[in-house]
Amino acid sequence: MEKKDDVQLKKIISHAKEYGFIFPSSEIYDGLGAVYDYGQNGVELKNNIKSYWWKAMVQMHENIVGIDAAIFMHPTTWKASGHVDAFIDPLIDNKDSKKRYRADTLVEDHIAKIEAKVSKEVSKAAKRFGDDFDEEKFKSTHPRVKQYLEKINGINERLKNTIESGNLSDLKDLITELGIADPISGSKNWTDVRQFNLMFNTQLGSLDEGADKIYLRPETAQGIFVNFLNIQKSGRMKIPFGIAQIGKVFRNEIIARQFIFRMKEFEQMEMQFFVKPGEELEWYEKWKEKRMRWHLALGIPKEKYRFHDHLNLAHYANAAADIEFDFPMGFKELEGIHSRTDFDLKAHEKYSGKKLQFFDPQENKSYIPYVVETSIGLDRMFLALLTSTYYEETLEDGSRRVVLSLPPAMAPYKVAVLPLVRKDGLPEKAREIMHNLKFEFNCQYDEKDAIGRRYRRQDAIGTPYCVTIDHQTLSDGKVTIRDRDSMEQQRVPVENVKETLRKSVSVVNLLRKL
Ligand code: ATP
Repeated sequence: MEKKDDVQLKKIISHAKEYGFIFPSSEIYDGLGAVYDYGQNGVELKNNIKSYWWKAMVQMHENIVGIDAAIFMHPTTWKASGHVDAFIDPLIDNKDSKKRYRADTLVEDHIAKIEAKVSKEVSKAAKRFGDDFDEEKFKSTHPRVKQYLEKINGINERLKNTIESGNLSDLKDLITELGIADPISGSKNWTDVRQFNLMFNTQLGSLDEGADKIYLRPETAQGIFVNFLNIQKSGRMKIPFGIAQIGKVFRNEIIARQFIFRMKEFEQMEMQFFVKPGEELEWYEKWKEKRMRWHLALGIPKEKYRFHDHLNLAHYANAAADIEFDFPMGFKELEGIHSRTDFDLKAHEKYSGKKLQFFDPQENKSYIPYVVETSIGLDRMFLALLTSTYYEETLEDGSRRVVLSLPPAMAPYKVAVLPLVRKDGLPEKAREIMHNLKFEFNCQYDEKDAIGRRYRRQDAIGTPYCVTIDHQTLSDGKVTIRDRDSMEQQRVPVENVKETLRKSVSVVNLLRKL
């Protein structure tokens, strides 16, 4: 039997296709694995997420500016950043199920299972002891919990060592020793672990002339690092300051399942914040908190989010955390917040021979700033919104509706303008109202089918309001506004519609909460 969560994800995938949000790429040729196209409603939702992020990061911060760097970069960029040598996934195949996995992820999932046992013990004890409960003391004294925690630390330590040393046979041994089974087939019949570089490459110039290998960027961050001085100088930026960017990136993900969660071509929204060395951990905490506030302002229940602090830090980081989201397939990374030290700028100084330093007038000296970055996948955010707002319900009259209860500011259309019937001057009146609204709000006009069916169509794409024009409108100048979530209807004078919409659909409402 299929798991409930798989069924839920499948429903969302087919809803996304049926209602013009997401289509498989080049579908008439049977599609291309892990590549997707955004349709007419998808692109609107995506643009709204981008705009909310951009405004929150750039417009709301005097010391953050944006850029749009090219996808192609000088190949040495990727040597300096470490991607040529180390942007590698350790992969392992299950011989029975023929499924491929990331070996480190299998171990991390195993750790997560033990962590869940610890959380269970902790919440049981918290209930038992009430106000007197001291979690830290409990964890350091309860024999079973202590054992679990020691086990977690031991596995983490080994995982870290195998990754850092690149010792793949040790990683395979760890999987065998922990008795990790294929989550699908339950088989423990594994191949050896192999390394696989995730960068796509192509050639610059014609092959006859001896073309240069050039990469498609796997992250937007490097476009920011190499422009650090250009922006600092031309914008007269003073530390601390940030550079933000939204753009396409490419990764040759081998294990690409789960719809738009893991794609080969996707978009990132990244911000690199340059700080004085020594102040990075303070800023790291600030950005963790600020980014969580951005998410919660959308009104998605806070239980859907959690932080996951990294114990295994990348060699260039001195702190890192993920904001995880409760997707149908469980809590998974949605955004990363990393304290990257001066690793990148230092590496680019070394490889380019150009100084990438900031002259601090207060200190009267130059230094390479430290960097705290926030990096969110736009497509994963899209999926988070889809999966957490999609629901089906049976109404009192027995009919069913499917709703996307999207935050109004994110909804593709803010309002649908619907003449009750297609005659008696109602369409003309409706067009007049629509013309008046469309300069400020993305509106949809619909006069086809019975009004109930038109409401259902708008519910399914998440339109927060429908404005209905009926015969009475012609005499009293009032329209009916229907609310997507409560389905309540209210009669208001036409001239009040804008104000009613503004109050709830504007992104300003979200920005004010930050
Ligand atoms: P993962 O561990 O899931 O592969 P990552 O740690 O490699 O992700 P980062 O390099 O930190 O991810 O990228 C920043 C963000 O980009 C992630 O938090 C995620 O939202 C998004 N992202 C990464 N890989 C993909 C992908 N293949 N498809 C869609 N979004 C992605």
